Amino acid sequence: MNSPYLSIVVPCYNEEEMLDELYRRLKAVCLLLGRSYEIVFVDDGSKDRSWPILESLAAADPFVVAVALSRNHGHQLALTAGLQTCQGERILIIDADLQDPPELLPAMLDRMDAGLDVVYGQRRRRDGETAFKRGTAALFYRLITCLSEVPIPPDTGDFRLMSRRALNVLLAMPEHHRFIRGMVPWIGFPQAAMPYDRQCRYAGVSKFPLRKMVRFALDAITAFSTKPLILASWFGIGTALITLALAAYSLASWVGGNPVSEWMILIIVISLFGSLQLLVLGILGEYLGRMYEQTKNRPLFIIKNLLRWEPSPTLEISTDYSNVASAEFPDAFAQQGDR
Ligand code: UDP
Ligand code: MG
Repeated sequence: MNSPYLSIVVPCYNEEEMLDELYRRLKAVCLLLGRSYEIVFVDDGSKDRSWPILESLAAADPFVVAVALSRNHGHQLALTAGLQTCQGERILIIDADLQDPPELLPAMLDRMDAGLDVVYGQRRRRDGETAFKRGTAALFYRLITCLSEVPIPPDTGDFRLMSRRALNVLLAMPEHHRFIRGMVPWIGFPQAAMPYDRQCRYAGVSKFPLRKMVRFALDAITAFSTKPLILASWFGIGTALITLALAAYSLASWVGGNPVSEWMILIIVISLFGSLQLLVLGILGEYLGRMYEQTKNRPLFIIKNLLRWEPSPTLEISTDYSNVASAEFPDAFAQQGDR
């Protein structure tokens, strides 16, 4: 089967009010492109009428693919199910609520034509979101930027266009706790931002309550940083320095003829053991961090380009030894000549 030029992947959870308008807008953009396409909707265990609506869309339109998950698996896994199902050469990820305008797609495709593998939407403004949501999101992106070893662009969501080769690498990362907006920058390849203004939800309410947001933030931090694991070492070093200062002060006053009080000795002993415990915890954290990295089983590296003659050259033999004689063994050949 020929793969379509474009796949649009949309995770949906209880989005019954959205689906008709969403389909209309996505379809209009696809028809404008004049290229082959598919729209992959993933129903993430909705409890409303989302699935019957998706079923009827898929029955009426051969360019619609509908996937239903067995239960609610969460946005990142629903998205992964869609990404695994889609077959396009270029893949657009978009939420069902039309906060991210699908009409940006032609401009994103143009940017990809210029040699990019990923064009990600970067929010300039976030209309219709509460101050709490914007505040916590801003804080979260600053925190993850400090902690993560790969730069994760701030104010980006999962609204992005990806090439097939970038998607294949993403799908080769089998980790369970997925933070896709961090995994994509981790892949590498040429990537660039497309600034846009995020709109209000077209209908319905956010499907990310505080509980899910906190879990998502924890997934992101633990997936992209082992720095919290070695926090104990830093506390241990701090406590060890304080212990040393106290011990030095006590020793100096003892040499000066002042008796050292019993409570001071007690504090020094307690903080000495405390700092030792923290340092050992930090060392355990270093090992645990390495084991954690290993269990994620990500590819060790990703090759961007490989230049090699195809088919491979056969054995190449030269019968002209004159260059070899003069260049590599000048003395030996000179001696033979002298004999
Ligand atoms: N979503 C999902 N599973 C969930 C929660 C959300 O598939 O468990 C989908 C939802 O239908 C939407 C997208 O993920 O298409 C983003 O959700 P939402 O717009 O509610 O998040 P927000 O924009 O408020 O962060
Ligand atoms: Mg939304």
